[in-house]
Amino acid sequence: VRDAATVTTQPRRTSAPIEVAGVPTHATFENAADADPAVAWVRERTTAALAVAPDLTPRAPHLGSTGEVDDVVARARALAPAWGATDVARRAAVLADVAERIEAARFELIAVMAHEAGKTAGEADPEVSEAVDFARWYAGSALALAADPEDTAATEHDGAGARFVPVPVTLVTPPWNFPVAIAVGGVLAALAAGSAVVMKPSPSATRCGEVVAGLVREALTAAGFDADLVQVVAVDEDEVGAHLVAHDGVDQVVLTGSLETARLFASWRAGHPGGPRVFAETSGKNAIVVTPSADLDLAVADVVRSAFGHAGQKCSAASLVILVGSIGRSRRFHDQLVDAVRSLRVGVPDDLGTGMGPVVEVPSGKLLRGLTTLEPGERWVLAPRELTPPPGGERWAGRLWSPGVRAGVVPGSWFHRTECFGPVLGIMRADTLEEAIDWQNATAYGLTGGLHSLDPDEIALWRERVEVGNAYVNRHITGAVVQRQPFGGWKGSVMGPGAKAGGPHYVAQLGRWVEEGPVE
Ligand code: GLU
Repeated sequence: VRDAATVTTQPRRTSAPIEVAGVPTHATFENAADADPAVAWVRERTTAALAVAPDLTPRAPHLGSTGEVDDVVARARALAPAWGATDVARRAAVLADVAERIEAARFELIAVMAHEAGKTAGEADPEVSEAVDFARWYAGSALALAADPEDTAATEHDGAGARFVPVPVTLVTPPWNFPVAIAVGGVLAALAAGSAVVMKPSPSATRCGEVVAGLVREALTAAGFDADLVQVVAVDEDEVGAHLVAHDGVDQVVLTGSLETARLFASWRAGHPGGPRVFAETSGKNAIVVTPSADLDLAVADVVRSAFGHAGQKCSAASLVILVGSIGRSRRFHDQLVDAVRSLRVGVPDDLGTGMGPVVEVPSGKLLRGLTTLEPGERWVLAPRELTPPPGGERWAGRLWSPGVRAGVVPGSWFHRTECFGPVLGIMRADTLEEAIDWQNATAYGLTGGLHSLDPDEIALWRERVEVGNAYVNRHITGAVVQRQPFGGWKGSVMGPGAKAGGPHYVAQLGRWVEEGPVE
């Protein structure tokens, strides 16, 4: 079966593979000058897509009723058995086709993410590539399901081997901060596992969810399957949301969102007849440790990128930098960091020159506190300020904030331990690397973590002690690449068995396994 479909699973970091003057090349917003013809090509198409994309009104999605939820779930249940019984090579081929369709829709997807979710083109473009990578990778995972993972059939106890049994209906609830890549990843992982899918997009990114689902539905139809194997129903996390999540006809839930949301979902599904089956990737409070041996230029660039990419709205983002020993006392790192943060150009997402875009909604709660209020012992190095949008960008009013940096964050304090999910970075100073690692670990989460050091002993010590799912040395801590850095955390950052997204076990966890002995 593995040979029956040709599926490319090589991941790509970013952007459109195109030909410029007959030469295959990769255009990226980040690593080439504007004058590069490939970048000009991408800019031209992105600008065109942004100009024609409808003016989306993300605050007024159609929200489903409990009756609509019942209909959608019943339809999924009716279609699920045939899909689950479909040969995995045919399922994989649909996923591979979705990869092509995403690639073809790259600029429309960038435009929809910009308009609805406030993503800059520089962030949205690699997100489209990540979606393509997920589609190809999970196509390969579908094929792997047909193999007996433990190869028990070949062992001496003459069992017939382990067999994967799909669960009928999977509810996929992607987040607003990666409304394309994580939506595609969740939906396709569930389809690969043989489930029919109900997708509940975030209320802040319903249009993105519909566009993604539309591409998958087209691929299903083209291959002769019923498009309703993937249906979208937008609901709030109120009683209708509870009705959907706890629905008897929903066998499992794949969620990316905050720890609070995961706990809410788990409470709704606590008495479910099929078991709760909530697979969630949740919050993080992530730090990068920088030691005196680090390459400081690289460290500053990686801290800035990790802290302020998508305005800090990533569960993988760095919201703490912990400076060890002399580096915390010298001016050099500090001044370079401040210069770099100050030079970030804050703007609206449809301006392609924008370095950092808006936050998804007018700050409130933890984010507002993080942007406006110092804790005891702290001082602003750069105080965040609310900025006035440029003419024509009025819809972003209240959501454009300059990036903030606070120093003197005290171990155990509110800012040390709380995920604010926005553009604010805290600096801590530790005497030793051991102390820095202790602080890095002393949160309820364990998602990503970074170390900048050129000392092999420091790297070995850090790797042994740090308690995170994605541990990066001398690299930014966001932007995990499918297959190369399968993504997912420890502790409060995960719910369920915790197989990593974009890794070899993700799809396999979304079904049931039966170990079949011989017929006696
Ligand atoms: N996978 C993303 C990354 O590595 C983060 C996903 C999220 O924020 O939910 O940056």
